[in-house]
Amino acid sequence: MKKNIILMGPPGAGKGTLAKQLMSALNLVHISTGDMFRDAIKAGTPLGTLAKSYIDKGDLVPDEVTIGLVKERLSQGDCAKGFLLDGFPRTLPQAEALRELSKEINRPIEVVVNLDCDNAELIRRISGRRVCKTCGAPYHVITLKPKVEGVCDICGGPLYQRADDNEEALKVRLEHYVQDTKPLLDFYAKEGLLESFNSLVGKEELFDQVSKFLNK
Ligand code: ADP
Ligand code: ZN
Repeated sequence: MKKNIILMGPPGAGKGTLAKQLMSALNLVHISTGDMFRDAIKAGTPLGTLAKSYIDKGDLVPDEVTIGLVKERLSQGDCAKGFLLDGFPRTLPQAEALRELSKEINRPIEVVVNLDCDNAELIRRISGRRVCKTCGAPYHVITLKPKVEGVCDICGGPLYQRADDNEEALKVRLEHYVQDTKPLLDFYAKEGLLESFNSLVGKEELFDQVSKFLNK
């Protein structure tokens, strides 16, 4: 079984959905920088206020802030059983900081799971995405409707559209992905850690493929 995993892919490729499926199947700690920022925004902390000013525009939160947050989380005791990083690293300085940190704490990255998806599908997925405010479960206005409009099937919480799931912010997010994050695929390919999957196969099939691979 592989532990200490990085999950990568453009916004809308299905990282969050796959991470949730993997978390119920594997005994790992899920570390999503996007979720951590959204929690901070909800709690109204100074970190939340800072993060919101970047996230709503589709921009990346500054490296020093994000790196500090992950360092703190990854050093905690529960991560010894293994972790899944979802949405981090997203820039070369973040990847370099992670390499140093994982050496320091002796928790080496074992694999980078990359999700491939074409642009038209990313835009379709994100523009129709709705998320449960309470439990974070993802929905889509056309392809994944809840039983009752606006209400989460799982917990009954209200569904909402993320502030950064609009056309303008999405354009910026995709640009950041191409400029800042995509180069990391080369970085990890050189380290022999990269394993890519096509996310167009659908979420059940994708989960099946990735979990079989991680269990090898
Ligand atoms: P998605 O993958 O759909 O873009 P995430 O939930 O992973 O969504 O991230 C939402 C936003 O949070 C990003 O657009 C960015 O502004 C911020 N963010 C998340 N992770 C990072 C990171 N590693 N570095 C900088 N900003 C981040
Ligand atoms: Zn819910």
